[in-house]
Amino acid sequence: MSVISPARTTTVDYNTLPANTQSAFDRLMEQADHTANAAEYEALMTALIAITGITGVRYNEILKCACPCDCGLIFDADAPGLHTVEDPQGYNLGRLQCPQCTDDHPTGHAE
Ligand SMILES: [Zn+2]
Ligand SMILES: [Zn+2]
Repeated sequence: MSVISPARTTTVDYNTLPANTQSAFDRLMEQADHTANAAEYEALMTALIAITGITGVRYNEILKCACPCDCGLIFDADAPGLHTVEDPQGYNLGRLQCPQCTDDHPTGHAE
């Protein structure tokens, strides 16, 4: 007996979002990156997930691909196969490449 799982939107391409959603995303991400308040961070991430429409996020945290290429993939920060571009220093969000970029052109330090 097979189980059909519901359709999921686990990633969204930033470049395909409407301009007003992009600017809201940028503003919320900027705040999330710099807040020192954990409750505020959670609230910002919840809002970010809501406006991007991504579902199935495991730890209420999403990221935009930090690759130097023009990839704008937004994805679950806990997804498998991500590659660290830069360790967080003085900000909250990890700088990670999406799985596609990790496959195509990994950058930064190796795990
Ligand atoms: Zn990418
Ligand atoms: Zn890339």
